[in-house]
Amino acid sequence: MTKNLQIGDLNPPTRILMGPGPSNVHPRVLRAMSTPLVGHLDPYFLQIMEETQELLRYTFRTKNEYTIPVSGTGSAAMEAAFANVVEPGDTVLVPTNGYFGKRMESMAMRAGGEIVHVDAPWGEPLQVEEVARAFEENSPDVFAFVHAETSTGALQHSVEELTSIAHENEAIVIADTVTSLGGVELEVDKWGIDVAYSGAQKCLSCPPGASPLTLNESALEKIEKRETLCRSWYLDLGLLNGYWGDDRTYHHTAPITSIYAIREALRLVNEEGIENRWERHLRLASALKSGVEAMGIEMNAKEEYWLPSLNAIRVPEGVDDINVVKLLLQKYNLEIARGLGDLSGKIFRVGCMGHSANAHNISYFMMAFGSALQKEGAAIDVKAGLEETYRKLE
Ligand SMILES: *Cc1c(COP(=O)(O)O)cnc(C)c1O
Repeated sequence: MTKNLQIGDLNPPTRILMGPGPSNVHPRVLRAMSTPLVGHLDPYFLQIMEETQELLRYTFRTKNEYTIPVSGTGSAAMEAAFANVVEPGDTVLVPTNGYFGKRMESMAMRAGGEIVHVDAPWGEPLQVEEVARAFEENSPDVFAFVHAETSTGALQHSVEELTSIAHENEAIVIADTVTSLGGVELEVDKWGIDVAYSGAQKCLSCPPGASPLTLNESALEKIEKRETLCRSWYLDLGLLNGYWGDDRTYHHTAPITSIYAIREALRLVNEEGIENRWERHLRLASALKSGVEAMGIEMNAKEEYWLPSLNAIRVPEGVDDINVVKLLLQKYNLEIARGLGDLSGKIFRVGCMGHSANAHNISYFMMAFGSALQKEGAAIDVKAGLEETYRKLE
C-alpha cells in the first residue's frame, strides 16, 4: 500500500531577492533550464561547452584557455582554485577583513598550506602598504584576496598594485570575484590576476550549480610542477582538463541543466555588453545609496570602496535589525540580509545584483525599507530619501 505523505505541490513564493545572493533569475534562464537533456558527450553539448567557455572569457575579460564552469556552487570553484594551486608547505597569504577570507584560510589549510595574514578591519579593503609588508615578512607563494566582500560590502581597490607586489615576489594571485563578476568592473588579464573564481547566483542571476573559474599560464605552470597529487579527485584541474580540454573524455557527468542555465545567463551579459552592465549596477545602486543617505542613514563603506553590488547600510540607532529583515520578508516579499561576524547587528546587506538590479526593485526597496524603519521608530526622513532615489532614477 502506498503511504500518503500529504506533500503538496511545489509552489514557492515569488520573492524580490535583494540579499547577498541568490538574486532573481531572468525568465530566459529559467526557460533554458526546462529544455531537454542531451548526453554530456553529445556533439550538441560539446558545442554548448565551447560557447559557455567563450562567454566566460568575455565576462572575465580574459584570454585564458583554461576557463570553465566548475560543477557546484561558488565554494566549489573556490576550492578548485585553492586545492590545485596550494601545495603542502606553501605559504598562503589571506585577508582577515571579512567572512570569505576566513573560508579561503580553511581551504588553503586543508590543501596543506601554511597560513599568514594581511589584516584590515571588517568593512574595509586591504591597504597596499599592508600587503607589501606582509610579503616582506612572510614571502608567501600564494596571495588570495576578495574583490567584492559580500559579508561587509567593501570593494577591494588598487588590484593592479596588489598583483604587482605579488608578481615581483613570484607569488600566484587568487581572486574571489563571486560578487563582482558581471556586476562591477573586473579585468582579469589587465589587472594581472592569475586565478579568479566566481558564482552563478550573484551578479550573473543564475541558479547556483555551475561556477566560473579561470587560470592563466603562470598558475597552470605552478600546478604542473606539483610534487603531490591534488587532494581532491573531483576538483583536480588536471583531470577536469580531460573533459573541458581537447580530449573531451568523461571525468564526471557535467550538470547539464546548470550549464544550459549559465550559458543563457552569460548570453544575457554579452547582449547587454559587460561595460553597460557595470554601468547599470553603478547607476541603480547609486540611486539606492543616495536615497538611503538622504533619509539620514549612513552607508558602512566610504565612497572609495563602496560596493554597488552589495550595499552595507548601517542600522540606525535603536532599530532592531532582525525585526526589519523579518518584516520586509513577511509583508513585502522582499529579501535582504543582516550583518555577519564583526558587523552582526550593525549593518543591513542589500544586494543590487544582475536581474534584480532594476529601477522597480530599487524604488520598491526604498519604500518598504523606509516604512519598516519608521515602524521601528527610527528618526529618518523617508520622503527625502524617496525623492532623492526617484530623482536619480529619472
Ligand atoms: C557567495 C560567496 C561565496 C560562496 O559561494 P557559494 O555559492 O555560497 O558556495 C564565496 N565568496 C564570496 C565573496 C561570496 O559572496
